[in-house]
Amino acid sequence: MIKKYIDIHAHTNFKAFNEDRDAVIRRALDNDTWVINIGTQYDTSKKAVEMTNEYEGVFATIGLHPIHTGASYHDESELGSEGKEFISRGEIFDKEKYKELIKLGKVVGIGECGLDYYHMDEESIEKQKIAFIAQIELANELDLPLMLHVRNQPAPDIQGGLAGNPTGKTHNAYFDVYELIKKHSKLLEVGLPTISKIGVSHFFAGSIEDMKRFVEIGIYISFAGPITYKPKPEICDYIGVIKETPLDMILADTDSPYVAPVPHRGTRNEPVYIREIVKKIAEIKGLNEEEVAGAIFVNAQKLFNL
Ligand SMILES: [Zn+2]
Repeated sequence: MIKKYIDIHAHTNFKAFNEDRDAVIRRALDNDTWVINIGTQYDTSKKAVEMTNEYEGVFATIGLHPIHTGASYHDESELGSEGKEFISRGEIFDKEKYKELIKLGKVVGIGECGLDYYHMDEESIEKQKIAFIAQIELANELDLPLMLHVRNQPAPDIQGGLAGNPTGKTHNAYFDVYELIKKHSKLLEVGLPTISKIGVSHFFAGSIEDMKRFVEIGIYISFAGPITYKPKPEICDYIGVIKETPLDMILADTDSPYVAPVPHRGTRNEPVYIREIVKKIAEIKGLNEEEVAGAIFVNAQKLFNL
């Protein structure tokens, strides 16, 4: 049985790791854990690609996160304060510019890209869709899988309510992502048997139905730290989704520096904590941890061609 782990979605390229980036990566590698660092806009993508040249077992994806299609939302642990590190400028996805990045290192996917309806307004959704379609087209061109970010708005009865949604409409981001991929991915044009490389939905928090729709078209389902928290089935029925997701379509991600799994909850997350998530998946599925770790590693190798 393979004993390697892989964190398919981390951001050790972010500012939050400026003080000890090398130590964090070494800690992962020394503990048999490979890492894929994820770009969220041009400069964080470039940083992720550059890091791949420093280590064996560290890979990168390049892309424009849906929230960075607008300048309004940014996170200090990602970009740094006062624009000292990275600047969120409300980027327009420039396919040719991103394409140049693949010459600089080991790029294994496009994204994170997709739709984020958390702070929803119609104008931003239009921008997000345009950037997403352009990235599906880049993935088509380069034969690379998509690293998908999909987030729904909170349901009206859950904290925050619809406050961030002036339209008052409810939309399912998972369904809209599914529709756009079906329409634009070249892999789906030629029919279902060839779809093993469409991509992965990281930090999955959709319904069982959303999961099934994704799996059917060859999108892997990746689970993150929240599956280790006290279950809140009214937000996401992780237990039900994990039980139903076929083992050969499962991946795991930390989304470091965010959402650290139990027992590290509340601290800065890092890739070596991926085993807490794998352990939880195994527990929910009633399988042994080594078997699940091995399956996830093989799934990642297949999807990202590692
Ligand atoms: Zn991310």
